[in-house]
Amino acid sequence: MKFEPRIRGQVDTGARSTGRINATRSRDTRRVLLINSSIAASRFLGEAIQKQCERQVEALSTLAQVRSHLDRTQEEFLAAVVGLELSDASGVEIVEFALGKGLPTIVLTGSWREETRRTFCRYSLFDYFVKGKLEIDGVCRALNRIPLNSSTKVLVVDDSAAARELQSSLLRAHRFQVFLAADGAEALQVLAEHPDTTLVITDYEMPTMDGITLAMRIRESHGADEIAIVGVSAQGASTTAVRFLKHGASDFLAKPFEKEEFYCRIYNCINTIENARAIRKAAFTDSLTGLANRLAFFTQAPAKFAESQARGESMAMAMVDIDFFKKVNDSYGHAAGDEVLRCVATLMAEYLGKAGLVARFGGEEFCVFCPGLDRDETWEIFDKLRVAVAATPVFHDGQTIRVTLSIGVTLAPRDSLDETINHADQLLYEAKNSGRNRVVISPRALGSGVNLIMDQLIPD
Ligand code: GH3
Ligand code: MG
Ligand code: MG
Ligand code: MG
Repeated sequence: MKFEPRIRGQVDTGARSTGRINATRSRDTRRVLLINSSIAASRFLGEAIQKQCERQVEALSTLAQVRSHLDRTQEEFLAAVVGLELSDASGVEIVEFALGKGLPTIVLTGSWREETRRTFCRYSLFDYFVKGKLEIDGVCRALNRIPLNSSTKVLVVDDSAAARELQSSLLRAHRFQVFLAADGAEALQVLAEHPDTTLVITDYEMPTMDGITLAMRIRESHGADEIAIVGVSAQGASTTAVRFLKHGASDFLAKPFEKEEFYCRIYNCINTIENARAIRKAAFTDSLTGLANRLAFFTQAPAKFAESQARGESMAMAMVDIDFFKKVNDSYGHAAGDEVLRCVATLMAEYLGKAGLVARFGGEEFCVFCPGLDRDETWEIFDKLRVAVAATPVFHDGQTIRVTLSIGVTLAPRDSLDETINHADQLLYEAKNSGRNRVVISPRALGSGVNLIMDQLIPD
């Protein structure tokens, strides 16, 4: 049985399609192998997987069909979802077959029996679900984790090699990127190399630095919404748990633990961190263009500005504005205006992104702060941007739209960030008043003819 793929638009790449710059990214298109004796149940689950996971499903009802499909196609699947009641194989045979193919394997069982649970807990299953109301969402959530986990870093800290191996094998079965450390000091080194770690699972008693000290040290530089910490210990479980939790741990797990408890606790922690990251990203991103927004600019720029001032280096602050943008909306419609904004933002990120902080301040106005940029570099990158925008038509709905930019840049920082931005804004108005489609840089240039003409208009 085959399920047709849902009809979807182009994959959302984050960088918006501009009509001209058509960004594409290779996507993991592996299908899900669904092995279940009930065709009706497979159809139901298959449709849910297509909808919730945006993946195609190959649904087969016997082990013989699976073998023949794999022999014929050599297809690589994302995961196997298997029922235990097949007509030609036992539950153990089908699980061993799927795991033997290296597939993350999710088991569906008809009823909850401790004996069945114990049998299958011996295998490195991705998860198991009892058929009922909750299993469909659970299976889809588990499938969606597989590609996410391969970019999720988890650090296991334990002085016992056996404990490290046990936890890392559970994490590897879920395709996490696993790092190991034998004590707190080693863990801090690993975190310094991998500050994007999502979760630290740490034992309590270890030489050099124990787990509670490690939790406190991590919290000196990483908030509870940035890195999750799970304390693990066999001894004095209740008070050790309290001490872990009071010193920055997100949760605690008493040894020995059941696999299910391990996974539930770590996923709760990981979900919390991922939700916080998503909220932070949304709060600091301009939703139309994907650039930093005003809030992101004023969160990051003050420190960068102060550092640059302290170093006594040159720096450039620019205000960039699209010329006659109201006419674009009036002539081609608001959607076309949005497309122009995305296109200009893409070019700004391309030309200026490496040099500094590029933010959409609002409307068709952008602010750019480039610490450490000298006059020639400043002139070069901003004029290249100006030329690129003027030379790049935006196609929308069968129409070709051309826009230009006016840019004011100050290389003479004032005492404060705000005053420096205001100075750049004054220079932007000079660019507008002197004809638009131009860069005005202050202070005066001595080298460049064009600069000189521009700068003659500007008192420093
Ligand atoms: P100038 O060359 O003097 O800058 O003229 P202008 O027309 O670009 O400037 P003006 O400030 O008169 O108009 C800016 C327009 O930008 C008005 C507003 O409707 C439009 N605008 C602001 N935000 C958006 C947006 O998110 N999408 C679209 N499509 N238009 C926007
Ligand atoms: Mg120990
Ligand atoms: Mg404008
Ligand atoms: Mg404006």
